[in-house]
Amino acid sequence: MRGRALTLLQLENDLRRAIKRKEFILHYQPIVSLGNDKIQGFEVLVRWRHPDKGLIAPGEFISLAEETGLIVPLGFWVLKEACTQMRAWQIKYGGLTTWKVSVNISSKQLALPNFVAQVKQVLQETELNPHNLKLEITESSLVEDANNTIAILQDLKAIGIEFSLDDFGTGYSSLSYLHQFPFDTLKIDRSFVNSINNNADKLGIVRAIVTLANNLGMDTIAEGIETVKQLAQLKALKCQYGQGYFLSKPLDKEIVEHIISSEIANAQTVDVEDHKSIIDEQIAREQLLFHIEQLRQELEEVKLEKADLEIMLDTTTEHADIVESQLHNEICDRQKAQAALSLANRELEKLSVLDSLTQVANRRRFDDYLLQEWRKLKEEAPISLILCDIDYFKLYNDTYGHPIGDYCLQQVALAIE
Ligand code: C2E
Ligand code: MG
Ligand code: MG
Repeated sequence: MRGRALTLLQLENDLRRAIKRKEFILHYQPIVSLGNDKIQGFEVLVRWRHPDKGLIAPGEFISLAEETGLIVPLGFWVLKEACTQMRAWQIKYGGLTTWKVSVNISSKQLALPNFVAQVKQVLQETELNPHNLKLEITESSLVEDANNTIAILQDLKAIGIEFSLDDFGTGYSSLSYLHQFPFDTLKIDRSFVNSINNNADKLGIVRAIVTLANNLGMDTIAEGIETVKQLAQLKALKCQYGQGYFLSKPLDKEIVEHIISSEIANAQTVDVEDHKSIIDEQIAREQLLFHIEQLRQELEEVKLEKADLEIMLDTTTEHADIVESQLHNEICDRQKAQAALSLANRELEKLSVLDSLTQVANRRRFDDYLLQEWRKLKEEAPISLILCDIDYFKLYNDTYGHPIGDYCLQQVALAIE
């Protein structure tokens, strides 16, 4: 532990000295449009030219610079140097007006109260158009002070500076608030890109990130493209930009100048012609996969519909059972009512016979009986019984005979109906 502490202390001292002595240099890694293989700009990557240890990669000193706060002066130097260089190339070679220089910004820089003013001042001093500058912010630094970051981004975007969300997929930023940050680009972390051809989950993630970015109105840059197969897959996924050793390693200033100034036609294009057949094959494969995915989704929908129908069918059968038993009960009730009715009719017949013997004597009994039967029936079953007393019917019937009597009854029934 003591040894490690000493090494760190030594490194910190060296770093302080290095900042004073300006022992840093910048390398530039091309960012290429995957649509036409043309260079769209560079990401600026700092290197430390240590007097004893040689060139040191940022992985070895950036986190220490952040811990000690030295990243603030170092980051400011990188920003100023990058803008100065870009402007110098524009003047020296003419054009390059659409190229963007991307500079990494640490969360410690974002936390500075005068960060916005610093950036504006650098642009003013170097005379670089803000449209040629892009700032990269890592996903992990978003969570530190989201509101402050949003305010900074909005402020600088207003003058034309663009923003990339670096190493996307490795931090813990919540997708639900991603849209609140006005990023122009998502940089897909290289951990997803390097296993895109042999890990279906990673491929799925990259595909989802490209869709997500497009839906949020952002472009995507795939970081760390190392093989032609990765490049082909990313082209097939319609990822807009790419960066990586397969396209170009980070280059020093002289090589960049060679590329810009080269007389060779299309020198500013990364040459992928040799690999065209692999790329085309991959694109065709991706299209086929897309088609299969669509079919799979359709099949899924059909399956869901089928399940719905089955549920409906089950409930209908169940329902039919209920209706059937209700009908059965109703029929039973009606049968009972009918039995009661025919019993009552028979009683009536008996009474009528009695009545015919005495003419009036049983009239009251007859009426009482009818009333009682009527009440019973009304309670028992929902069947209406219409009783009709025809004056002098008996006399009529006896006088004109039964067929005429029947005819009379039919006419009365018809009239009632
Ligand atoms: P980054 O911003 O994600 O930069 C990309 C890193 O990936 C660079 O590493 C680059 O050299 C490397 N890279 C590019 N293509 C490939 C590839 O195909 N395969 C592999 N394996 N790596 C590739 P580098 O230059 O070592 O920088 C590492 C990190 O250090 C950067 O990651 C960035 O976070 C930080 N950094 C570099 N320069 C600066 C700076 O000026 N300021 C700040 N704050 N951070 C910086
Ligand atoms: Mg970066
Ligand atoms: Mg990155």
